[in-house]
Amino acid sequence: MADAEEPEKKRRRIEDLTEKMAVDGGHMDTGCEWDGRWNHVRKFLERSGPFTHPDFEPGTESLQFLLETCKILVIGAGGLGCELLKDLALSGFRLIHVVDMDTIDVSNLNRQFLFRPKDVGRPKADVAAEFVNSRIPGCEVIPHFKKIQDFDESFYRQFHIIVCGLDSIIARRWMNGMLISLLSYEDGVPDPSSIIPLIDGGTEGFKGNARVILPGMTACIDCTLELYPPQINFPMCTIASMPRLPEHCIEYARILQWPKENPFGDSGLDGDNPEHIQWVFERAQERAAEFNITGVTYRLTQGVVKRIIPAVASTNAVIAGMKHFFFSLRH
Ligand SMILES: [Zn+2]
Repeated sequence: MADAEEPEKKRRRIEDLTEKMAVDGGHMDTGCEWDGRWNHVRKFLERSGPFTHPDFEPGTESLQFLLETCKILVIGAGGLGCELLKDLALSGFRLIHVVDMDTIDVSNLNRQFLFRPKDVGRPKADVAAEFVNSRIPGCEVIPHFKKIQDFDESFYRQFHIIVCGLDSIIARRWMNGMLISLLSYEDGVPDPSSIIPLIDGGTEGFKGNARVILPGMTACIDCTLELYPPQINFPMCTIASMPRLPEHCIEYARILQWPKENPFGDSGLDGDNPEHIQWVFERAQERAAEFNITGVTYRLTQGVVKRIIPAVASTNAVIAGMKHFFFSLRH
């Protein structure tokens, strides 16, 4: 065996380590700092490096700012949001607000790792905040189970940085517009103290992006709208008269047959209702058989109706990590 450590010594070492790592109930009490706790963050903030910004001045003030002053807002507590909250809390950000309007669905659990089966149905913001607060001593995450539109200027103005983990372009544009409206200009130049940096990012399957927007100074969300991929829609003539793909058959059932037959009364098609999906699936199968098309499955039906793009945990982790890296560039 390579492990030459005596069992007793090893046991004591593990006990010692466990004690250092113990966090339950450690929130904001005196035992929340320990020797070397921020050593890894210090390596970033107190030394220069090949990727640091030319204006970056290494020093101890940055960590002080992080721990004591910096107020950061995370928008979205989903796939990206969970990663962001974890990264921020572990690297010394202590005053974090999180806004999310969603509740936890069982299908989130594979990648939104701050949630457990018992949390299904509860607000994402609340559960994420509870989890991080109980796990990271000294960190205070304040949840808001709300829409971003429920807050006004005075709310957004209090933050030093805003990080978005959103899945909607509309929400991004709203947030972008809010930050631009917060700018105050002097002789046509934005007053630097009125600029709140927006760190935006998104993922779609294996693809993702992350970038920093300085409102009033760099290209914003609206300047770069054409960078977003268009929503995939099939031409109606293909769906109605010459389907070639299983997706065309599903769209036929969804767009044309459902409103005509209203199989469940007046209730609209609900992508989360298995009976609704089953109905669309069966109609799509009939249509596919008529045109000798294969590949219509229940799963595909669900994917097309709900416009599901598989979310990949590792992509979220990489993108959140990149956004986090931007902080160190900016410091
Ligand atoms: Zn712009």
